[in-house]
Amino acid sequence: MPSGCLAWTGATNNGYGYISYKGKVHRVHRLIWELECGPIRGGLTIDHVQARGCIYKTCINVEHLEVVSRSENARRGALHRWQLLREAQRVRQEA
Ligand SMILES: [Zn+2]
Repeated sequence: MPSGCLAWTGATNNGYGYISYKGKVHRVHRLIWELECGPIRGGLTIDHVQARGCIYKTCINVEHLEVVSRSENARRGALHRWQLLREAQRVRQEA
């Protein structure tokens, strides 16, 4: 199934894409959200929405991004790790 991700190919750190813009270093997925959708309010973070097919933390497809609170993002992060572990087990069984 195609993910539709637009994976950033520039600089990365901690798995996220970074870019220098107007004299500051930005996380690319936050910057593209602000350029296309407007400023991100304080305390909010940008989530890569797995339910829309997003699998890269470096993804800058705004259709895959959503503004969420930090607690909501942490909850989804926990779900993400559990799904990765399940996938790793499935591959072992097929080998
Ligand atoms: Zn994506």
